[in-house]
Amino acid sequence: MPMYDRQCNRCGVESLDHYEPIETESPVCSCGGRLERFWSGTYFPSVIDDSIPGGLEIRHGLCNENGTPRKYYSHSEIRAEAKRRGLVNYVRHAPQRGSDKSPYTSRWV
Ligand SMILES: [Zn+2]
Repeated sequence: MPMYDRQCNRCGVESLDHYEPIETESPVCSCGGRLERFWSGTYFPSVIDDSIPGGLEIRHGLCNENGTPRKYYSHSEIRAEAKRRGLVNYVRHAPQRGSDKSPYTSRWV
């Protein structure tokens, strides 16, 4: 069975990792909105080529174990590492939408 993530179209709450048939109806959120399915990778539009030219340096969260910044060269690499650390949700929020609270700093070399 495929796995889906859902997000409320009203309050934005996320509900992750649903194993369900594709024809499952969107459940109603406690706020009255609908938990709509979204696909992992939605925020990384270039699915075919998800490499990061020059690499993406992450200083927090997904940095090296010793706290030094770590460089990633593809979004899938970041996702894999996030998954390994149980930070799936973290990565999904990584590309900030109009927020200045970016959890990482990118550096284009
Ligand atoms: Zn809601």
